[in-house]
Amino acid sequence: MPESGPGAASGTPPRARIIDGRAAAAGVRAEVSRQVAALAARHGITPGLAVILVGDNAASEIYVRNKRRQTREVGMRSFETRLAASTSQAELLGHIARLNDDATVHGILVQLPLPRQIDERVIIDAIAPGKDVDGFSVINTGLLAARGTGMIPCTPLGCLLLLKQHGGDLNGQRALVVGRSNIVGKPMVQLLLRENCTVTVAHSRTRELADECRRADILIAAIGRPQMIKGDWIRPGAIVIDVGINRQSLPSPAGPREMLVGDVDFDAAVRVAGAITPVPGGVGPMTIACLLRNTVTAACARHGIDPGGLSG
Ligand code: NDP
Repeated sequence: MPESGPGAASGTPPRARIIDGRAAAAGVRAEVSRQVAALAARHGITPGLAVILVGDNAASEIYVRNKRRQTREVGMRSFETRLAASTSQAELLGHIARLNDDATVHGILVQLPLPRQIDERVIIDAIAPGKDVDGFSVINTGLLAARGTGMIPCTPLGCLLLLKQHGGDLNGQRALVVGRSNIVGKPMVQLLLRENCTVTVAHSRTRELADECRRADILIAAIGRPQMIKGDWIRPGAIVIDVGINRQSLPSPAGPREMLVGDVDFDAAVRVAGAITPVPGGVGPMTIACLLRNTVTAACARHGIDPGGLSG
């Protein structure tokens, strides 16, 4: 049993390595930049990423702006389609069909959530699988589950890259994924299986979650519940990847302050874990970096180019 928990934690010095997601994401972007330059120089190809934004969700606006900036920074083309919140499903399908046929577009991303009149599943499955850089379509989901291939969803891919950098040999490690969403939990399970981890998946009906956590060498929290995973749930020395992004109002000397917190009680967990991602600055920055990486992968696949061969 771990010797420390939230109560006991205060006297215990931090022992975990803090995994710097910003630095890791900068590394992924630098690699993508090199590949984009090589694609242009050797093949005359500039990868293009098209983002569709429907409505005026404030958080989506920020994500789309960041995606545009980072896409341009790595030398790729960025296309944006902005549609009114009243857009019909048929209209949106028309835009996707146009982008599917556009040879300058290698990746298509429809920013979620969509307005209520539109069925997300229909839209995602309308994106050509080779351009589905979010990897959410049923074809890419099936390819990952059945063959370990296809376009891999960006957040789980980012988690895997962090794990490979910081988790040593993943073979045979006991991994617990808390959360079973289609965009994070389930693809994460598939990726860990592909790495030969022994994988358990937990969700809102899981009994004795704390005990499940205590068995895990690798703990992935993708829940959306602020600081739900406590310090004394963590196996000493475990690697903890906190996917959660939760807004919370916390007291400060200057009054309540809005902060981002993860699904893990970081201050307690950092005293028990071997390595841990912070929130913010952990998994978050990896998501867009992996989107850019997927866009290069898509461009290479379309033209029959090995992305690995571009880096040298
Ligand atoms: P979902 O709401 O789609 O899924 C949450 C999962 O957590 C569900 O499987 C749910 O179980 C499970 N869950 C909820 N409550 C509990 C509980 N008390 N005990 C155990 N399991 C529970 O969320 P997402 O997967 O989309 O996102 C998860 C978190 O990750 C969010 O905070 C989100 O903001 C963040 N996120 C961060 C990204 C990044 O770039 N860093 C990208 C995407 C998401 P059940 O299936 O039974 O309902």
